[in-house]
Amino acid sequence: MNFIAATNNPGKMAELRRILERMGHTVQSQREAGLALEPEETGETFAENARIKARAICEAAGRPTVADDSGLCVDALGGAPGVHSARYCGRHGDDEANNDKLLIAMADVPEAARGARFVSSVCVCLPDGRCASFEGVCPGRIGFVRKGENGFGYDPLFIPDRVGVPGREDTVQNTQGRSYAELSAGEKDAISHRGRAMAQMEQMLEAFLAGEGAAGMASGEA
Ligand code: IMP
Repeated sequence: MNFIAATNNPGKMAELRRILERMGHTVQSQREAGLALEPEETGETFAENARIKARAICEAAGRPTVADDSGLCVDALGGAPGVHSARYCGRHGDDEANNDKLLIAMADVPEAARGARFVSSVCVCLPDGRCASFEGVCPGRIGFVRKGENGFGYDPLFIPDRVGVPGREDTVQNTQGRSYAELSAGEKDAISHRGRAMAQMEQMLEAFLAGEGAAGMASGEA
């Protein structure tokens, strides 16, 4: 399938592209498709915001569109930053300031209480108006310092419980406490919230295109 990805976030775009291409799809970013719009994310849930983005770009482009709305939910912060992850520090998309704010908020939280989860809601919309949503979750914890250079956003502070093993289907316990930013693409995509949501999408896509489960919702946990 040839998708447009409804995002202006380069880090997220890189992941969506590599996951979709590995699945045998082709994808253009909304920028590559000449669409500069940035729909307002007025939803209260990841699923609502993913649908707002996918629907807006699909309507503008007249082509199948995939959107991901995602974020980090930290137990000790009552689930924050959650749907506000991109603008936790008060400005949209300032990863360094977001990570600084998270480290300060977690400064006095002991190891045992640093649990967190990344959540991704992926929405696919078709030009005929049908949309389907899929959710992926990756449990883990928040580190005490930034680690690693890969990825984007909160990757240097998030330590997933499990990691993928390139070339293999299974995953293993993250015994070395590596952050998302210390993982290779294959190690992250196999367990990440986004990788899980996209795997759900892939499983249901054929049935969805054939007209079954039009507004489906599926979820996967790492
Ligand atoms: P949105 O989905 O565009 O509203 O923004 C999601 C925000 O959540 C990003 O700007 C990042 O701060 C964070 N985020 C989502 N997925 C990831 C990830 O895989 N790694 C690190 N941060 C992420």
